[in-house]
Amino acid sequence: MAIDPRFEESRERVGKEGGVDVWGPVNPPEELGIRGAHVAVDFDLCIGDGACLEDCPVDVFEWVDSPGHPESDEKVNPVDEDQCIDCMLCVDICPVDAIDVDPGRPGRIWPARSSEEPVFSTLVKCAGRDLPRTRPVPLRPNPC
Ligand code: SF4
Repeated sequence: MAIDPRFEESRERVGKEGGVDVWGPVNPPEELGIRGAHVAVDFDLCIGDGACLEDCPVDVFEWVDSPGHPESDEKVNPVDEDQCIDCMLCVDICPVDAIDVDPGRPGRIWPARSSEEPVFSTLVKCAGRDLPRTRPVPLRPNPC
């Protein structure tokens, strides 16, 4: 099973935690729902292997404890999803398809970014990497 990319329609947003949207049902510790909007992680699928956190070129994810959850005691929380550059790396490397990235959902900030915003660090991080992409990125050229 993979994260439902249409979770906004199939689930109810039950609140925010640490600035991140929470989509129910939530019944801890066994059921934690989906976290995020632009970058969404299904906490009930996440096995906490950390590949997305390690490889995200702009450090969108942070560890969060999830003691007692049947899949893992740690999850990756998309706390900085507003920095996402839609490279789709996390989507492609997640072994359990727990992540969906959709620039069309709320949470992105690119339209509000200024032209002075430094993209150089991102370019350096991505240089030489062959980042896979599973979905077209329509809104802005991807420096990766
Ligand atoms: S799509 Fe790329 S930039 Fe966005 S969260 Fe995933 S790895 Fe990070």
